Amino acid sequence: MDFAIIGGGFTGLAAAAWLRSLAPEKSVAVLEAARIGAGASGRTGGMVLAESAAGDLPGLGDVLHSFAEILRKLGVDCDLSLPGAWEIGRRGKSENSPIEWKDSGTLRVVNEVPGGTLDPGKLVAGLARAAHQRGAAVIENALVERVEWSKGAELYVPNGFVRADKILFATNGLSLSLSSLEGRAEPRLTLAAATEPLRDEQLQAIGLSQGKPFYTVDFPYLWGRTCFGKSIVWGAGLVAAPDSQHLEQIDVATNEPARMFASLEQRVRNLHPALAEIRFIHRWGGPILFRENWQPVFSRHPASAHAIVLGAYAGHGVALSVHLGVWAAEALLGRRELPDWGGIEIV
Ligand SMILES: Cc1cc2nc3c(=O)[nH]c(=O)nc-3n(C[C@H](O)[C@H](O)[C@H](O)COP(=O)(O)OP(=O)(O)OC[C@H]3O[C@@H](n4cnc5c(N)ncnc54)[C@H](O)[C@@H]3O)c2cc1C
Repeated sequence: MDFAIIGGGFTGLAAAAWLRSLAPEKSVAVLEAARIGAGASGRTGGMVLAESAAGDLPGLGDVLHSFAEILRKLGVDCDLSLPGAWEIGRRGKSENSPIEWKDSGTLRVVNEVPGGTLDPGKLVAGLARAAHQRGAAVIENALVERVEWSKGAELYVPNGFVRADKILFATNGLSLSLSSLEGRAEPRLTLAAATEPLRDEQLQAIGLSQGKPFYTVDFPYLWGRTCFGKSIVWGAGLVAAPDSQHLEQIDVATNEPARMFASLEQRVRNLHPALAEIRFIHRWGGPILFRENWQPVFSRHPASAHAIVLGAYAGHGVALSVHLGVWAAEALLGRRELPDWGGIEIV
């Protein structure tokens, strides 16, 4: 095997599709522990944001433009819409704000930035299809338990092992010891909840009829977006990882997550009279990974120069994961250098 990619989310699938586009003679496999999109990519809010969580970075390029171009080249249709995104806050200049919500003060639109929304299910499925159609093997239920580095790289899955010349670790907030990110980045579970579909008058009354996603620039934090079926996905709150660091062990229906959902839902109902009776019909959590400086990890693996670790987008990874996944593919082929800002300290 020429290239093994661990993790079937946006990062790993985009990298696999791109590798086979550029080098159809090379063998590529995506090893996914559970199902495609089982991590953050199948649970994301789907707000499409520019730059990174730490802002622009040297050499990062125009993430939104690149993202749209990659999707076009890979033939992925995911209802991408880029009307802009609203920064909302309790302070700061805000003239003619469509949003006027009560939430520890009055929340109004204080800035508009490039961005928009997409259908995350269509994105993850479209990337998987693009990888598969180009000849990458996409293998589900293939948890990589360990990697032996002595003779090249051997990736051990429950039924055997795969030998690969080069590896991309695209495991995000899971399997941190495997990717070498344990102690170098903080995993969290982030929570989101979706309402029943709203009527047009309700969307109009609360200022969300333009379909622009929003996130607060001050605290308490709140983000959200309208979906194509007119429901709204709202998010706030991070649950710390258990001592084991395994986010999979958290049950979102109990304890702290359950209390956080109750508080988020009450907060939303209090934002505006048009939301007072709103029902929530889905609740879920997903992994996100933060570095201290909120810059993504994009680095050689400490165990081998033939392996790259990419992730830790700090909840800002929808467009960025695809943009950097493609960059990682080019780096694995030796056609591009890694950026200076993605390095992890050897501890
Ligand atoms: C609730 C939520 C809302 C979000 N909202 C937004 C948003 O609106 N906008 C935005 O820009 N970002 C958002 N994010 C962040 C964004 O979704 C992520 O940054 C992005 O999906 C990361 O993609 P990824 O492929 O790197 O990781 P993931 O999608 O997490 O994929 C990692 C994959 O690796 C697999 N894996 C892990 N360990 C192993 C192993 N040992 N062997 C094999 N496979 C393994 C996992 O099963 C998983 O499928 C949100 C995240 C969450 C959780």
